[in-house]
Amino acid sequence: MSTRVLTEFDLLLPASLEEALDMLERERSAVTVLSGGTDLLVAMKAGFKTAKAMSLAHLRNLDFLAYDSGSGLRMGPRTTIAQIVDSADVKQHYPALWQAAKIFATPQLRNTATVVGNLLRGSPAGDCSAAVSALGGTLVMASAQGRREVHVDNLWVSYGVTARADNEMAVELRIPAPTKGTVSAFRRLTRVNEDLAKLNVAACLQLDGSTCTGARLAMGCVAPTMIRLPSAEAVLTGATINDDTLALAAEAVQQDISPIDDQRSTAEYRRAVAGVYLKRTVQQACGIA
Ligand SMILES: Cc1cc2nc3c(=O)[nH]c(=O)nc-3n(C[C@H](O)[C@H](O)[C@H](O)COP(=O)(O)OP(=O)(O)OC[C@H]3O[C@@H](n4cnc5c(N)ncnc54)[C@H](O)[C@@H]3O)c2cc1C
Repeated sequence: MSTRVLTEFDLLLPASLEEALDMLERERSAVTVLSGGTDLLVAMKAGFKTAKAMSLAHLRNLDFLAYDSGSGLRMGPRTTIAQIVDSADVKQHYPALWQAAKIFATPQLRNTATVVGNLLRGSPAGDCSAAVSALGGTLVMASAQGRREVHVDNLWVSYGVTARADNEMAVELRIPAPTKGTVSAFRRLTRVNEDLAKLNVAACLQLDGSTCTGARLAMGCVAPTMIRLPSAEAVLTGATINDDTLALAAEAVQQDISPIDDQRSTAEYRRAVAGVYLKRTVQQACGIA
């Protein structure tokens, strides 16, 4: 049941990354990482219980955001949605991520919520999750034992469950640099802007003239996790982007999705709009919207 009162928990405030990783190693599943808290605190008010929340608030230098034309985009676990909106590099080189951040909730939320938190919430509705899925990002997980990389294709296991081990903390998100002909875009459909999506889509295409040589398409709110759209990707890859191909891709989406009814939309409506939204997102990416 949802309430305005948080249940009791111990707040852990590590002062360094090393201390944070030691706490996770010791406490394992008894502790939950608290970043911006815009998902976690809402979940706790709705009944999610954790004995200990480990806040990242006192850790320094974890809100970095850096772009390099060779190695791509790097951001920290405390990099906020607002920082993404303010970044000219993200706007220019990663339009899908910038557009997802731009429409995200309210200014207060954008100043607090993080991109990494959006991914690790494991929600099928995450707007930045859709964009990062299409752009092919990789999370760097750290534990007291060392570091490993988890590609976004392998991150979401089931609703709310990620590939993060309970002694791990995400310390960096990397997104590859776009090459010549890379285009991307994001769109979403909501009841009101402050609400989560009824459906969201992100597309990242590799274009050689009007021929699509590679496609990564992600759609949210149509399955238990954020998903790629392999049938639609197969239609677009190797094809010329025109009205006929887009109509075929829009049709193919039906094979990739399994939407349900919930408080934001019906499965029937999601099925009806999925193809249309995919088509419009690809058109937006290609500049033919
Ligand atoms: C009013 C409102 C409006 C919203 N609007 C939108 C919206 O428009 N679009 C959208 O996509 N979402 C929206 N959200 C959801 C939420 O704001 C986002 O998912 C946000 O990006 C979560 O980031 P955070 O830093 O607050 O995460 P937190 O709540 O701190 O954490 C979320 C989850 O990730 C884990 N986690 C976070 N960081 C790490 C880390 N470094 N290592 C390991 N685990 C970690 C936490 O343990 C938790 O399980 C909204 C929420 C609210 C309350």
